[in-house]
Amino acid sequence: MKENLPFALSKDRSFFESLSDWIGDVLYDELPEKGFECRDEQIFMAYQIEKSLKEKSVLFAEAGVGTGKTIAYLLPAISYARYTGKPALISCADETLIDQLVKKEGDIQKLQDTLGWNIDVRLAKSRDQYLCLKRLEHEQKTNNEDFLLEIEDGIPDFVYGHQSLQPVHPYGERSAFPDVNDEDWQKVNYHPIQQCAVCDIRNRCGQTIHRQNYREAADLIICSHDFLMEHVWTKESRLREGQMPLLPETSMIILDEGHLLEFAAQRALTYEVQSQTLVSLIDRVAQDGVREKTLRLLEKLQDSHDDFFKELLVHAYGEEGERLHIKKTDLVLQIGRQIVNLVDQILEEFVFESELYTIDEYDLRMFEEYLEQYVFSLKLFVQKSDAVDWLEEKDGLETLVIMPRLVTDILNEKLFTSKLPVVFSSATLSINKDFTYISDALGIDQYHSFSVPSPFDYDEVMKIFGHSIVNMTKAQKAKELLVDSKEPTLLLFKSKHDMVNFEHTLTAEERLGMVFEGERELSSIVRDFQAGLISTLCSYHLWEGLDLPAEALTRVIIFDLPFPPHDPLFDAKRKFSNNPFEEVELPFMLLRLQQGMGRLIRTSADHGSIHLLLSNEEKQLSTSFSHVLPVEINWV
Ligand code: SF4
Repeated sequence: MKENLPFALSKDRSFFESLSDWIGDVLYDELPEKGFECRDEQIFMAYQIEKSLKEKSVLFAEAGVGTGKTIAYLLPAISYARYTGKPALISCADETLIDQLVKKEGDIQKLQDTLGWNIDVRLAKSRDQYLCLKRLEHEQKTNNEDFLLEIEDGIPDFVYGHQSLQPVHPYGERSAFPDVNDEDWQKVNYHPIQQCAVCDIRNRCGQTIHRQNYREAADLIICSHDFLMEHVWTKESRLREGQMPLLPETSMIILDEGHLLEFAAQRALTYEVQSQTLVSLIDRVAQDGVREKTLRLLEKLQDSHDDFFKELLVHAYGEEGERLHIKKTDLVLQIGRQIVNLVDQILEEFVFESELYTIDEYDLRMFEEYLEQYVFSLKLFVQKSDAVDWLEEKDGLETLVIMPRLVTDILNEKLFTSKLPVVFSSATLSINKDFTYISDALGIDQYHSFSVPSPFDYDEVMKIFGHSIVNMTKAQKAKELLVDSKEPTLLLFKSKHDMVNFEHTLTAEERLGMVFEGERELSSIVRDFQAGLISTLCSYHLWEGLDLPAEALTRVIIFDLPFPPHDPLFDAKRKFSNNPFEEVELPFMLLRLQQGMGRLIRTSADHGSIHLLLSNEEKQLSTSFSHVLPVEINWV
């Protein structure tokens, strides 16, 4: 339901003049009167966003931790949505951050309660966050595990009911099935090979109903960076096929934790071939009644596909758990070409099969679409092109990933030159107020930017110790620090490999009170850490996203400077840059280092220490990173 603007418009003042006055009234008077701590940096940010709306420009809004960024962007975003009649889109780094934004104690709810607003906010989560009725049906036929009962219980009556008058409402979100584990969920959630456009039950599907629901949002749609990128890449092809784009027209975009957009863009632009998907699809279509010639071709395809993955695995190299380099041997390229040829023949045979109705229509369409994408990926792989490829494990399956390199050109064309105001909001977007790294990585030529510091007095609440590691190993130093004190400590590693190596040096006694990322589900580890059940949390991912206030986290140990890995993706970046150290290594490390240190002080009640463990080589780089530290280093 559409609500009015929160302020009156008059003939002699423009919308933007009135918006500017109103932002001042709310942030200088109304919210402070109701107990909010509004800061000059926050007010400055809100005005800069208002300017970006007026100029329809891209804005890098870098504001330190504790500025109150969310309220600073919500006030102009909601007003602009109501003025233009199109919702504002807020894109978050992941689904957890979406939930944080809309939770009961979150800023949106606080604004509703304090200002007496009725904010129409709807969620557009990634597609894999929704149940797929087709996959559920398939699973019910082949499996009788208990988790299916829980899923069935969560499906509302109207889905299988015959009365058309039953009220329809959104259902089928991942969060509605908390007791179903991830592995089981991945058997019944949406998977990219599903063909929703030709699905006969799409009108009853939870994902379709959610989509209709968020399309009608008046004020805010909240999605993840991954979903936004999927929308951007697929918008034109969906329109060509007569489908609606994934997201409706919006008045502006806020990219919360905008520094993570590049990774989402790369992920969304990749083509993936999983070892198992083709095999299960062949199983589905190779049935009685299918012509002998088609069956023989399918069998040959399966054999070649198996050989292809065997050959890939034998020659893949790199660190375990990371993206693996692929050695393109003559044999793997030859099998790849063979597969392309076989798929072309199979697609021709499918024309006859479809006329004979030997294969279920939906399954046939799904397989054809999959084969088209599969063969496109393999052509990219076997041809000489700019594409970057690697092998990695995803959901427990070997996956060949192929990424065309030109993310920047596509982003620039489809997102940043469309006259849509786009605001990047984050505590770490620049290196010393220089936004070149992020703007180059995203292909943004024209932008405004500002950087305001955190309101916290870091000299009072934070100490940074630089440990020069000589005559001992880093592991020994870390253990020495951990023995000295039992204070809640986050121990950050630049890679899984480094973390596992450290773990192997520990005795059973030294390991007491420590938990390592990957031991179990990460958010349950974080909950236990916050509750004081764990004294040391070892991680290689939590350089960002961890938000533990006050006494829950008082020490961060940085085991090694977070330079990017030597994986195929970063090696490609290095290869295409004039000065890899200055243009790739250093900016990546500096941003990540700032993010890691940013875990320590989250509120005005926080305090603590940062410990940098530095080898001789790393210490020599201290002049390259000391300028991004909030306080001076004490060398010990
Ligand atoms: S519309 Fe798509 S997600 Fe929904 S049931 Fe059909 S295939 Fe599955």
